[in-house]
Amino acid sequence: MPNAPKTSRTPPADSPPTLPVVSSTRSPLSAAADDTPARLIDVQSVAARFLAEAAPAAAAATSLVPLETSAHRLSTTRAAAYLHNGWKPQRQKLLDAMIAGNVADSRIRRFCTCGDAAQVEVHEETGRLRIRTGGCNDRCCIVCGRRRALLVEAALNGLLCTRPVHAYTFATLTIAGKPNVPLADSVSRLYDGFRDLRRLKLWKKNVHGGIAVCEIKWSDRANAWHPHLHLLMDARYVEQAAISDHWRAVTGDSFRVDLRRVRGNQRAASYLSKYVTKPISNTCLGTAPLAAEAVAALKGRRLAFCFGAWYGTPLSKLAESDEVPDEAPELWRPVAALQDLLTAADGGDEWARSLVRDLPHRQRSDSGPAG
Ligand SMILES: [Zn+2]
Repeated sequence: MPNAPKTSRTPPADSPPTLPVVSSTRSPLSAAADDTPARLIDVQSVAARFLAEAAPAAAAATSLVPLETSAHRLSTTRAAAYLHNGWKPQRQKLLDAMIAGNVADSRIRRFCTCGDAAQVEVHEETGRLRIRTGGCNDRCCIVCGRRRALLVEAALNGLLCTRPVHAYTFATLTIAGKPNVPLADSVSRLYDGFRDLRRLKLWKKNVHGGIAVCEIKWSDRANAWHPHLHLLMDARYVEQAAISDHWRAVTGDSFRVDLRRVRGNQRAASYLSKYVTKPISNTCLGTAPLAAEAVAALKGRRLAFCFGAWYGTPLSKLAESDEVPDEAPELWRPVAALQDLLTAADGGDEWARSLVRDLPHRQRSDSGPAG
């Protein structure tokens, strides 16, 4: 696609949008990071002019799929492809599972169009760029899950640093898998069992508080579901055999409990929060009926929650909500729609390319505390 003349600020109606050009080889927003707020405002005003002039042309030049005709199909916009690059096959399988699981149309539409409205923003004090995805916040969406997980990780780090590292324990509770037992039943037994476990004297005496995150796995070998609860908790040392016996007592048949002491707070927070990103394991995504059953079984379930003294903390509120809050939105200024920026960069515009190069890495782009 040929470039528009570099001196032209207003592209012809039938040409791709052209961003304002700066003479510096550095990204204007990188430069802005070292400059005064006045310089930033100048960058933003130039970007705003670009948006006013080029956005209509960009919208015409790109193939945004109308919602009415793309229901139950993943969006093919440039912005969505950029943001969701790397998990397309799994995303399609999850969409198929949602459709098969009779998930509400409105939820499916949000999932399909996640990222279409993404905006590139600049931090007015640091000059850092971020992508505000305006995401679907669906529990099956990895892009939105990553944002949620990073916020959980940050809140968890804040909580963990208040106590010495040896105070913390990882635990994994599992329900024994049996063929032909519906996943919803196994998940109910897992959650009910954990509730009953927390009522026992051994637990109350030794566990101060913690967070639990659900993960759904399928075992081909056992031909059965294996739902897990991954726990990170502030607890005294307890013999694994004792916890295992109590777990069997409340579940009737399950005794597999993995206990490990935490060796580093940051690693612990990172390890636990990764389960927030992806509650449904790849072990069941390859088989459509299993994936549909997993999506349906998790409907209405809290996938992460705090217990004991951690209940009611900021971490607790964050973990229990599917919404992903924005951080200090007043400090971020819009630069361009991601769709327009990528289209211009694809068309060869150097400034757009420099901005795209300055975007956080794709895997992290959605991770900035954005909405
Ligand atoms: Zn999403």
